[in-house]
Amino acid sequence: MIIRDKFYIDGAWVTPVGTGTLDVIDASTEEVMGRVPDGVEADANRAVEAAARAFETWGQATAQERRALLMKLREGLAARIDELGEIMAGEVGMPLAMSKNIQAGLPLVSIDNFVKILADYRFEERIENSLVVKEPVGVVAAITPWNYPLHQIMAKICPALAAGCTVIVKPSEVAPLAAFVLAEEVHRAGFPPGVFNLITGVGPVAGEALARHPKVDMVSFTGSTRAGKRVAELAAQTVKRVALELGGKSASIILEDADIEDAVRGTVNDCYFNSGQTCSAHTRMLVPRTAHARAAQKAKEVAESFTLGQSADPKAKLGPLISRTQQERVRSYIRKGIEEGAELITGGADQPDNLPKGFFVKPTVFGNVSPDMTIAQEEIFGPVLSIIPYDTEDEAVEIANGTVYGLSSGVWSSDENHARRVARRIRAGQVVINGGSFNMMAPFGGYKQSGHGREHGPYALDEYLQTKSLQM
Ligand code: NAD
Repeated sequence: MIIRDKFYIDGAWVTPVGTGTLDVIDASTEEVMGRVPDGVEADANRAVEAAARAFETWGQATAQERRALLMKLREGLAARIDELGEIMAGEVGMPLAMSKNIQAGLPLVSIDNFVKILADYRFEERIENSLVVKEPVGVVAAITPWNYPLHQIMAKICPALAAGCTVIVKPSEVAPLAAFVLAEEVHRAGFPPGVFNLITGVGPVAGEALARHPKVDMVSFTGSTRAGKRVAELAAQTVKRVALELGGKSASIILEDADIEDAVRGTVNDCYFNSGQTCSAHTRMLVPRTAHARAAQKAKEVAESFTLGQSADPKAKLGPLISRTQQERVRSYIRKGIEEGAELITGGADQPDNLPKGFFVKPTVFGNVSPDMTIAQEEIFGPVLSIIPYDTEDEAVEIANGTVYGLSSGVWSSDENHARRVARRIRAGQVVINGGSFNMMAPFGGYKQSGHGREHGPYALDEYLQTKSLQM
C-alpha cells in the first residue's frame, strides 16, 4: 500500500490544505493499492504562486542549464524504472512487462528527445531588421489522464521545462502514484524550487482551480472532450493559451489492394493496445464489402489470441480496464451495439468466466457495423473493434471523416503512393501507413474535436514558446 500525504510545492513536501483523500485501486485485484491527498483550490493556488515566483529566474536560465537538469532527471527515473512499471501495472492494469517497457519506458524517450532538441534548437531568428526571440509562455498547468499516467505528464513537462516554463502537474486521480516518484526525482535532480509542483485531486476542484487561476499562462490538458471543453471555457476568461489532447474514434482504412490478413492483424493489435484505452486507437476498421467475411474471420482469430489476465500474470496479453466505471461504460456500449443490430463476432459484455475479479472486458469484435451506429460514432475506450464495410474508396474516406473526432487513422495498401493519397484526405492529426511505428519526434495531436496543440518533438517545444520581435 503506497500512502502519499503531501504535495510537492516550491521544492518541498508540504501538508495539503484539503484534508480529504482519494483511494487508488488496483485494476486487476480491485484492492486499494494507494492513497493520495484530495487537493482543494487553496492547494492549487499555493502551487501556482510558487510556479509564478520560480518563473522569474527559470525563464531566464540558459537552454544548456535546463538541458543539464533534464539529463539528471533521466538518470533518476531510469534507476526506478522497475518500480514505476509496477506502480502503473497496478493502477492501469497493463501487463507488467509491457508496463515497464511502455508506461515507464516512454517517459525516458521523452526526456531523451528534448535533451537532443535543446542541443541545437534556435531560440532566435533574424527577419530583416528584426530579431525574433522565442520565450517561454510562463506558468503551465498540466492536467493529465490515467491511460498512460507518466507518459502523458512527461509529454507536457519535458517541452515545458525545456522551453523555460514552470509547471504545476495535476495527474488523474485514478492513477496518480507515478507522479509522486517523478516529483522525488525532480527534487533529486536539483531543479530550483517552484519550477515543478505536484498536486492531486479531482478535476472539477483541483483541475478547475488551475484552469481558472489568473497566474496560470497556459493549460495543457489531455483527457476527455467533455472536460477539455470545460477547461477551455474557464481558461478563456483570462485568455490563457490552451492545448487540448482529447478523445478519438480513429479509422483504419483497409484498401482493396492491401494484404488483408496483415492489415486486420495490425488493426486489431492497435485497437486492443492497453485494453483499448488509447486515445489514438484504431477502433473502426473499414473494409471493402467484398472482403468483410474474410476480415471478420481474421479479426476473430486475432482477438481470441489475446489472453486476458491480471497485470502480474506473465501469460496476460490483455489486462483489465482501469476502473469499475470504465468497465461499466464499455459494457454498456457493447450492449448498445447488439441492440442497434451490429453483428457480435466475438467477445461480449459479460465478465470473463475465469476472471471473476478485476475490471475485465472480453476482446470484442463487431461486424457489419453501419457508420451511424453509436459504437461507430462514440469513443468507447475499451477493447471493442467495429468492422464497417464500404463500397468505394470515396465512401471509405467519407466514413473515416464522419465523426466529430480527428486524432489518428490508418491506411493499408500494397502501394505506398496510393496509401499516401488517401492519407492526405483524412482529417486527422496522424495517419499510420501500413502499421508505421509510433515516432516520438513527430508531432502528435488532433483535428476537430480531438483537440489542438501538438505533443512530442520540436513541434511540442513551440507550444510552450511565444515570440517577441525586437526591431532594430
Ligand atoms: P477525464 O477528462 O475524465 O480526465 C482527464 C484529466 O482531467 C484528469 O486529471 C481529471 O481530473 C481532469 N479533469 C476532469 N474534469 C475536469 C474539469 N472540469 N476541469 C479540469 N480538469 C478536469 O479523462 P480520463 O477519463 O482520465 O481519460 C480518458 C480520456 O482521455 C479519453 O477520452 C481519451 O481519449 C482521452 N485521451 C486523449 C489523449 C490524446 O492525446 N488526445 C491521450 C490520452 C487520453
